[in-house]
Amino acid sequence: MQIRWEYLTPTDFKALASKEKLCILPIGSLERHGEHLPFGTDGLIAHAIAVRAAEKEPCVVFPPYWFGQLHEAACFTGTINFNQRLLLEMLETLVDQIAANGFEKILVLNGHGGNINFLQYFAMSQCDREVDYTLYTGNLLGKPLNTFPWESGGGHADESETSMIMAIAPETVRMEYQKFKEPIEPLHDTSSLGCYTGYWWYAMYPEHIAGCPSLASREKGEKAMEETAVNVAEMIRKIKADTLTPSLRKEFYERLRRVKSGG
Ligand SMILES: [Zn+2]
Repeated sequence: MQIRWEYLTPTDFKALASKEKLCILPIGSLERHGEHLPFGTDGLIAHAIAVRAAEKEPCVVFPPYWFGQLHEAACFTGTINFNQRLLLEMLETLVDQIAANGFEKILVLNGHGGNINFLQYFAMSQCDREVDYTLYTGNLLGKPLNTFPWESGGGHADESETSMIMAIAPETVRMEYQKFKEPIEPLHDTSSLGCYTGYWWYAMYPEHIAGCPSLASREKGEKAMEETAVNVAEMIRKIKADTLTPSLRKEFYERLRRVKSGG
């Protein structure tokens, strides 16, 4: 069965959309991942896991969406960094467009660390915008969706991302370019300030690589993606069955309208 938006024909698309009512939007970035991984790492991983999950629990999967929050990587070759207003407007238009094709629910499935706070803000900002669909966001970086027991951490161009790209697109991985001494530890630590700055990640990893990429293997990547896809499929089942969030959304709009009309 075809579940990828770009592979579907009108008849099969309409049948799948009207039966399952859910579309996954995999989101990543175009961003430096050290010297050895491709720019599209996060979107490739998010899309590959979304496709695997939808093959277990059917729904439509949108093509990878590359334009995430990436201000922290603006100083690197390969980055596509939209300004914040355009970023929000494009994502908002995109989810509206997806919904307009017959979906009641949209799951934004994220593979990029820099999108975590951005997507939470985006989801929250939808509360006072009356639409006829419900938006969910899921994060592939860590628990509860990513539960694979990696030997090393890092979170970027590390053992985990390298392994998964080895499984998805092995021809794009160039381990011979990985010259940074491992383990790649944080260089500076701004957490002792006790407050947040936009440079916290850059301070730690100025080459946008962390951990021990040389511990990666295609086998680990394959296992991790399968395990994560099982977790995402379980989440898809819960989202499909969720009646609480859509009803709260409608209740919220009604109260919002009463406030606006002075009631
Ligand atoms: Zn990444």
